[in-house]
Amino acid sequence: RLYNEVQDLKGNIRVYCRIRPFLPGQSKKRTTVEYIGENGELVISNPSKQGKDSHRLFKLNKVFGPAATQEEVFLDTQPLIRSVLDGYNVCIFAYGQTGSGKTYTMSGPTMTSQEDWGVNYRALHDLFQISQNRKSSISYEVGVQMVEIYNEQVRDLLSSDGPHRRYPSCSLSSILLLFFVVGNFNSIALTGLILTTQPNGLAVPDASMHAVTSTADVLELMRIGLMNRAVGATALNERSSRSHSVLTIHVYGMDLETGAVLRGNLHLVDLAGSERVDRSEATGERLREAQHINKSLSALGDVIFSLAQKSQHVPYRNSKLTQVLQSSLGGQAKTLMFVQLNPDVDSYSETISTLKFAERVS
Ligand code: ADP
Ligand code: MG
Repeated sequence: RLYNEVQDLKGNIRVYCRIRPFLPGQSKKRTTVEYIGENGELVISNPSKQGKDSHRLFKLNKVFGPAATQEEVFLDTQPLIRSVLDGYNVCIFAYGQTGSGKTYTMSGPTMTSQEDWGVNYRALHDLFQISQNRKSSISYEVGVQMVEIYNEQVRDLLSSDGPHRRYPSCSLSSILLLFFVVGNFNSIALTGLILTTQPNGLAVPDASMHAVTSTADVLELMRIGLMNRAVGATALNERSSRSHSVLTIHVYGMDLETGAVLRGNLHLVDLAGSERVDRSEATGERLREAQHINKSLSALGDVIFSLAQKSQHVPYRNSKLTQVLQSSLGGQAKTLMFVQLNPDVDSYSETISTLKFAERVS
């Protein structure tokens, strides 16, 4: 194993909190954030209470304040991401109400400036650099899938017959075929064995797999995925806050000297907004969406909770989201959750419910 630092993760689940800054024009807003400690302590104050009940202390693995840069956030995420090259499965997701900075953390505000890049572009860039510079006999192949989960339905955002597409798209089997061609017969047998005996499945079913060889390839794919996400949505921002987007990176490595094969995958998830929807106000389609979001976020919470408790039964089957993420939740997999906060006092109750979600799983 190359990156031993990931071994120290408690129960393989880690929770980081990120507080976004007030946006330009919001300078007169009041904050609920009272104190940020070096070791993951966070004190939130209740704007409508005084005295000793007015503050609440939370303990997370780490808290990034409003001034934290994309690079700082990534540096604390990098060891986890690199462990994918050693064959680990890793899941990183952003949880929080709409407007709390989930997309900012996972993707960044723009793709154009490298400084703005969020975790997903930095992760791929890093994986390519390492796999290319690593002085070893291991040859890596990287495949990407990108889906959206909306109302418990999985939609392939990189489908080769979608409105926006890229050629050539490449199936999982053709990536494996590549290995068969370069490998020797022992490793073929081994590969076949590993793949067919994996109970969790390898790839997101029914979603196209795209082989990538550079960061530029990935940027192009994500651009296409985002365009496809917009198709069919009346208003992009609205829709994107009510669906989960899942970017999956598959890494297949083969040691050309020994024929040993390893595979790891990385799921990068921008979750739907966790805000409570007022039942008395939402009707029809909006209510249905809210119920689906609620169901899948609580299913995710339940899965992570049972993993943290090391319980025998992990309820993966309760939502599409947890089914899609199953291979990178539990077992040897590493999980990192970013809980995102909007510091505004008006968001106080959402902030508390977000932190309670975090508290339950950490
Ligand atoms: P979400 O995806 O949770 O709905 P966004 O990522 O879209 O939230 O963030 C909402 C707004 O706040 C966007 O304008 C975004 O650019 C801005 N924002 C979020 N996090 C930060 C940050 N850490 N620094 C600067 N601006 C941020
Ligand atoms: Mg978003």
